[in-house]
Amino acid sequence: MNIEKLLEYQKKDEEIFKLEKKLESSEDKRIYQNMEEHAKEAQNKSVALEKQASMIAQDYEKLKKTFEDNQKYLDSLEKKVQDNLSEEELKERLELSNSILSNLNILEKKMMNIASNINAVLTQFNDAKARYQAAKAKYKEHKEKFEALRAEIEPKVAEIKKELETLEKGIDKRFMDKYKQKRADKNFPIFVPLRDKFCSGCAMELPSADLGKLKQNGFLECENCRRIIYYEDK
Ligand SMILES: [Zn+2]
Repeated sequence: MNIEKLLEYQKKDEEIFKLEKKLESSEDKRIYQNMEEHAKEAQNKSVALEKQASMIAQDYEKLKKTFEDNQKYLDSLEKKVQDNLSEEELKERLELSNSILSNLNILEKKMMNIASNINAVLTQFNDAKARYQAAKAKYKEHKEKFEALRAEIEPKVAEIKKELETLEKGIDKRFMDKYKQKRADKNFPIFVPLRDKFCSGCAMELPSADLGKLKQNGFLECENCRRIIYYEDK
């Protein structure tokens, strides 16, 4: 088996491997994906806060209505001038008025509390909105940078792939299949020479039985790094 062509193929393919790695490990990619998450999170928070604010506003409206009803009732009591009330009835009327007044006080305090709750929620809502916008802007910036890198790398990869197709024609299909199968694991390089008694991919020393097999067949899969060790009898 002529290993030269396969090694030539592997060397060319390594250029693709490096380009793919550059794209995959892009810092811009990491940032834009991160910002996508941040934006989603901030948006969910905004929606939840909006819901919360609307519920609080409904509570406020209910209290306001109760307050106004009490107020009207009190006004109506005070407007009714009735001279013929007994002392007992006057006393009852006064107690009723006082109790309504005290209700009104409690309601007013509750309404003030709710108003301050709404303000707190609004502040949080504005924070979430600002975070969303910041994340969106950062996402856009880094996504564009990443896409520019991709646009630069992809044509290069396509060009090398064409060269690989030509090279492939001169290579034994069995080895090519093995190569492609291992290539998917991204454990590069795939074919490595035996160096003395060691796998040159991972530096593991081969047991003498394996060494014998390798020298006999010319190839052996390394048990440690799963690369294909080749041996050339020169
Ligand atoms: Zn190895």
